[in-house]
Amino acid sequence: MSEIPDEGQEFKLQANSELRFEVEAKAMVEIEMIEGQAEMFGTELAKNRKYSFVSGSKIAIFTWHGCVLQLRGKTEVAYMSKETPMTVYVNTHAALEQMREKAELENTRGPRILVVGPVDVGKSTLCRILVNYAVRLGRSPVLADIDVGQGNMGLPGTIGALVVERTADIEEGFQQTAPLVFHYGHKSANDNLQLYNLLVSRLAEIINVRCEQSKKVNCSGVIINTAGWIRGAGYEALKQAAGAFEVDVICVLDQERLYNQLKSDLPDFVKIVLLPKSGGVVERSQATRAESRDNRIREYFYGLKNNFFPHSFDVKFNDVKLFKVGAPSLPESCLPLGMKVIDNQTKLVPLLPSNNLLHHILSVSAATTVDQDIVETNVLGFIVVTGVDVEKGLFTVLSPSPRPLPKNILLVMDIQFMDIK
Ligand code: ATP
Repeated sequence: MSEIPDEGQEFKLQANSELRFEVEAKAMVEIEMIEGQAEMFGTELAKNRKYSFVSGSKIAIFTWHGCVLQLRGKTEVAYMSKETPMTVYVNTHAALEQMREKAELENTRGPRILVVGPVDVGKSTLCRILVNYAVRLGRSPVLADIDVGQGNMGLPGTIGALVVERTADIEEGFQQTAPLVFHYGHKSANDNLQLYNLLVSRLAEIINVRCEQSKKVNCSGVIINTAGWIRGAGYEALKQAAGAFEVDVICVLDQERLYNQLKSDLPDFVKIVLLPKSGGVVERSQATRAESRDNRIREYFYGLKNNFFPHSFDVKFNDVKLFKVGAPSLPESCLPLGMKVIDNQTKLVPLLPSNNLLHHILSVSAATTVDQDIVETNVLGFIVVTGVDVEKGLFTVLSPSPRPLPKNILLVMDIQFMDIK
């Protein structure tokens, strides 16, 4: 990373406008608010505090009342804009807050919101804003992420949720002390739709249990981020998620067609709102997406600013049990009587350790015995296989925690990570 130069650039922002910038590759950018008030995706900035952003970050600092910002470091772009959808977003938040107040009075469930739309419209950002605004009013909503492509809760190839009690950290996002994460194993919901739908339902079920345990969480509601796959089977998966989470509100970002489709297909009690996307949201190519997946995995092991020190150690084949979820489909005629092709997709398949494991990510299941329903059990964390020695019967792993592994049932992902710095 290159050094941040001392001399900065000053931006005077008028009320209801934002500064947008993108950090150049291999650079760092520092921002400081020297006057006024401002927020980043719903989190307030402290005055005279320097916040730094790593290479590739795409940021918007918005102000309701005006502010002066000092920016240091190399940006791809840095410009001010008065055209933002923030007023519409804050109105959406206000409507959700009314639903929470009602739920609190009547001792019922708070709003459950599904945020949908095509790729690169700011779905994750809107979820962050809505969650932050709720937390700023003292709420503790659940943030669920069912976009397996980016893995905001765990890693790509997972879905998960967490109860949010603090606004997202400006630099590091939401504190992920105890997220609930499920292993899916692939980077697209399309790779095993049967399994994907099963896990979404399971996640919803556990969130319901969590809500029953806490009145505060229950009336704060659930905000669910989804993937940008909205056609064909992707659309069906969205509808199934809406059903599983029993959502009351669907926020459709930037697509009238999807909005109309949902309006005609879903029952009337589901409120469907069409929201504009921000002109600041940056489109990402397939290559950038793959890169950001890789960065997410690297960040899990090494920390956002290379401030974590992962461990590397050997694991004996005999000390672990390896599985993958989903067997290759067989033609119906080859299956035992009564079994459908579809059942294979959610089946736990034992794997023999081999060189094929190299570079694959493995989820460490929370299950203690193979008799448990491992597919529907959450995971504790992840390791990556950095070496395999078949003759010695062991493999080397990179792990966030020191040896030994916390549990010995490991689920193999399709997703790979090359541990090259
Ligand atoms: P996906 O297609 O992966 O689901 P998405 O619709 O969830 O994407 P986001 O991840 O919310 O989109 O936004 C894409 C990128 O744009 C992110 O890096 C985010 O930080 C950035 N971004 C969002 N809003 C703004 C804005 N107003 N100005 C500048 N950048 C922004």
